[in-house]
Amino acid sequence: MSKPRISNDTTSDRGHGRIVVLSGPSGVGKSTLAQAVIASTPGIVRSVTYTTRPPRPGEVDGSDYHFISPEAFLQRSGAGEMLESATVHNYLYGTSRLDVDHLRQQGLDVLLVIDYQGAAALRQQHVEALYIFVLPPSMAALEQRLRQRHADHEASLRTRLAIAPTEMAQYQDYDYVIVNDDLKSATQQLQAIVLADRCCLSRLDRRYPIFAELDGWRHERVSSA
Ligand code: ADP
Repeated sequence: MSKPRISNDTTSDRGHGRIVVLSGPSGVGKSTLAQAVIASTPGIVRSVTYTTRPPRPGEVDGSDYHFISPEAFLQRSGAGEMLESATVHNYLYGTSRLDVDHLRQQGLDVLLVIDYQGAAALRQQHVEALYIFVLPPSMAALEQRLRQRHADHEASLRTRLAIAPTEMAQYQDYDYVIVNDDLKSATQQLQAIVLADRCCLSRLDRRYPIFAELDGWRHERVSSA
């Protein structure tokens, strides 16, 4: 009788999932990368960020962001519900601790697309996570991407570009750095980091019979010694 194969890609019995932090300057391709890795990697989802920024054309409430009023945001953060929050370009952004815990309890890795201030807040709270920074291949490429996204007026595009070097200088505080030149290879790199982490000794999937078998074998040797 052939045994059912246990897929090493699914995470349902792996215990708590991992927090995966993705930071980088606006326009570097974080959302694009996040979408690509989620589409190609089982067991990783995105926690939807809460924001007071108005939706851009095409953005869907509850899927791209939870769009909420400043009052509702402050009420949540005052109640300690935000794992991290930050003000970016005069709008508030935050990640719900409840949402993240709920997803991790299901064994899912949770991708947080947050800026360096948010990531720093997590580090300060000693939140264990994979901290990943995304850089553009050059400033010119970053500017070109911001322009091709057509989401900003010239003034806010200039602001984004002006603060980009300060943001990018933070890359040295991260565990991993991905240069998003070719999207496909950047996606592969992100996927490789997430998958390799699932093989860490401390995070091994112990559902496989071999672990109980080895424990039994070790126990027998000790008792017969
Ligand atoms: P962020 O979420 O970091 O602000 P986006 O994911 O919105 O950035 O990407 C900004 C723009 O750059 C989008 O138009 C996206 O299609 C484009 N983009 C992302 N990655 C690449 C890449 N590797 N090469 C070229 N364009 C890219």
